[in-house]
Amino acid sequence: MNPANASVLTEVSRGMAADIDLAVAAARRAFDDGRWSRQTPSARKEVLLKLAGLIRENVAELALLETLDMGKPIGDSSTIDAPGSAHFFQWHAEAIDKLYDEVAPTGGRDLALIRRAPLGVIGAVVPWNFPLDMATWKLAPALAMGNSVVLKPAEQSPLSALFLAELASEAGLPDGVLNVVPGYGVEAGQALGLHGDVDALVFTGSTATGKRFMNYAAQSNMKQVWLETGGKSPNLIFADADLDQAATMAAFGILFNSGEVCSANSRILVARAVQEEFTEKLIAATAAWPLGDPLDLATRMGPLVEKAHADKVAQYIAIGKAEARLVHGGERETRDGSDCYIGATIFADVAPDARIAKEEVFGPVLAVTPFDSEEEALKIANDSEYGLAASVWTRDLSRALSVSDGLHAGTVSVNTVDALSAMTPFGGMKQSGFGRDLSLHSFDKYSALKTIWIKY
Ligand code: NAD
Repeated sequence: MNPANASVLTEVSRGMAADIDLAVAAARRAFDDGRWSRQTPSARKEVLLKLAGLIRENVAELALLETLDMGKPIGDSSTIDAPGSAHFFQWHAEAIDKLYDEVAPTGGRDLALIRRAPLGVIGAVVPWNFPLDMATWKLAPALAMGNSVVLKPAEQSPLSALFLAELASEAGLPDGVLNVVPGYGVEAGQALGLHGDVDALVFTGSTATGKRFMNYAAQSNMKQVWLETGGKSPNLIFADADLDQAATMAAFGILFNSGEVCSANSRILVARAVQEEFTEKLIAATAAWPLGDPLDLATRMGPLVEKAHADKVAQYIAIGKAEARLVHGGERETRDGSDCYIGATIFADVAPDARIAKEEVFGPVLAVTPFDSEEEALKIANDSEYGLAASVWTRDLSRALSVSDGLHAGTVSVNTVDALSAMTPFGGMKQSGFGRDLSLHSFDKYSALKTIWIKY
């Protein structure tokens, strides 16, 4: 479905367990015969750099697929998602022939090598919010390391992954190394999770589904499981902060991609002394986020991904109205026959234990809670089952560092929100998951350390 106008966009094959079996078998054959796994890192680098180049040549088409499929503004998909995918492939490709193995300091007539070996067949299951980039975050390090992959994109948004597979083939990735099986979670996703010949599962999606993957591994072959799951990331605004900049970025932190971002800064914790001033600035900042047709370059927020999800977000807005004070937005709109449009929505005076302060809404809904001290701010921030990201706004360097130390989050952004790059690890603590995407650390998920000990 195209969520922008509730029309059927195209039909996609519904992969079932038998298709996953075929894909895993193809991936295993490719891994075992070494057509990719035993190519040199430099050779793999060349192929993945070609892929990055092909993605750049096809940015417009990839961006259009992404926008039609899940509704994100074309201005984002064409400047962030699609070029981002090329960049991440390039970064991991360039890194792979610069990773050295180790020699242990045994002394004597021994030589102990510590080598990094690819794992084998990787099962990757990804969500719909950044379909191309979430797939890329898994594929780039997995393929660079020499693994074979079976990728199951989200049922809402399989098109860019299918096109990416075509481009990978054109770049020279041997057949069987990358297999994309579209389908539903409870069918193709579960079959991949339970498969006895998959060596590791890498997953981005909801916490509930992530827990299922741990079960799949336990019920089958004890494959490794790496999870990037949900979040309820706090954004702490201290009284000495640059409130204009903090408000502009706080709006970005919840409205970019319509809040359908795992690390969305969906909780504002603000010093009581500046609560009113900050909230006014925040409401003013939402004016820069027009809701509209995602194919219009002026649009910064498109429709939510699908009706069921818009229903869920609307339900949370109703819950919010009962437990806090709605100060902006809260409307659901129908445009072009689609009722998936929800604009910026802000609640103030939200109690720390309110549902809209605790549960992941995954939409453009912000909960603002005042605090009276640094200690209280930290306590509220950390009182969450999640620990993906957090932001801190202050001009006091000591406070910035001590609060960053105290926050239970995989990434803490200071005087910005949601800082992210190929160079830095991304991932969660607590029920936001474990293992890291991006950076050189991402290779840890896609390789095993092997000791080879030689006596001479
Ligand atoms: P989801 O868990 O419903 O779906 C994610 C993927 O899992 C999809 O491909 C889906 O088909 C598959 N799936 C669903 N049920 C399954 C099952 N029973 N067995 C096997 N596979 C199954 O999540 P979603 O609604 O698509 O995505 C939103 C969630 O993703 C949010 O919670 C968000 O926080 C999270 N997310 C996390 C990160 C991160 O890096 N931490 C990044 C993006 C999104």
